Amino acid sequence: MISKEFMVDGYERILHVEHEESGLDAFIVIHNTKLGPAIGGIRCHTYSSSSAQLDDALRLSEGMTFKCAVSGLNQGGAKAVINASKIKDRGLAYQMLGLEIEALGGAYICAGDVGTTIEDLFKIKDSTQYVAGITLDSSLPTALGTHTSIKTLLKRDGRKTKDQTFTVQGLGKVGKHLIKMLDGKIEAYDPFVPELDGVTHIEESKLLQGEFYVPCALGGVINGFSLATMKSEYICGSANNIFDTRNDILNVHGMGIKYVPDFITNCGGVVAVALDFQNKPYKSALTTTLAKRINMILDISKDEDILVQHVAERLANDRLK
Ligand code: NAD
Repeated sequence: MISKEFMVDGYERILHVEHEESGLDAFIVIHNTKLGPAIGGIRCHTYSSSSAQLDDALRLSEGMTFKCAVSGLNQGGAKAVINASKIKDRGLAYQMLGLEIEALGGAYICAGDVGTTIEDLFKIKDSTQYVAGITLDSSLPTALGTHTSIKTLLKRDGRKTKDQTFTVQGLGKVGKHLIKMLDGKIEAYDPFVPELDGVTHIEESKLLQGEFYVPCALGGVINGFSLATMKSEYICGSANNIFDTRNDILNVHGMGIKYVPDFITNCGGVVAVALDFQNKPYKSALTTTLAKRINMILDISKDEDILVQHVAERLANDRLK
């Protein structure tokens, strides 16, 4: 196995790990361990280049640091990103990655993420003790946190979820749990999930026309192009990194659209995994506690006239100081 370490400003450790026989090609990025051992999933995805793969790992690991800090966890942020297209022997690839994680001595606790299955995590467990939430379906707590965020946002405007129509993008693991929790009317678009009971399927072009947009698929969905036609009054879903650029945050604010930052709405997975590692339940952390935190952020934003996203980032940064 070849493991090369290099530096990027603002990140604690970056390793590029390659293993010829298994076809493992992974980056392990530890962004910050100031609050405690870093936690973050293993993403297994096809990347067209090594730099695209590294960029994803850098962005996602930083997001984990913010997510943990703002969620009150004593954990830092990290991520491992495997290039799926290079894998030759999947079981061996995950075992080799586990060896590298073990060698980090607990600085990084890994977990599941897009493209990594429970079987993959059991393979990792063969070679490292630093793996959490193997049998925990993190999409359920993620949906619970997203549901709390949606309810809290509406409640502040004296609205109830049962009177609302939600326009959901993506009916994957989180989206499917979330629509069962929401008691309002559901419209949805997912190119790979055409029919679902109780859901009105809509065209992709109608997604941004709904009053309450719930992105549960891809990142970067809030951009210059989508904002040009967006009619939604609220944005709140589970998708990571919904804003394509920092400028889009300003534009959303300027348009008066209400939202909860994505690293708060989708904190459920990491909160549940971290609490699972300590043998604690997650429900109250993702309902009462999360609702209080969101109200606090929205209150500060209103009282001090600061963007919601900036308040959330400030709270995270204050903990990281
Ligand atoms: P998933 O892969 O199970 O589901 C994603 C769904 O989106 C799929 O059904 C796919 O068909 C659909 N999709 C793809 N492109 C689409 C498009 N252009 N328009 C509409 N739908 C499209 O993923 P998931 O676990 O449900 O995660 C959803 C989002 O939530 C992701 O952004 C993920 O990063 C984020 N998230 C997930 C978790 C978790 O615990 N699963 C935790 C935090 C954040």
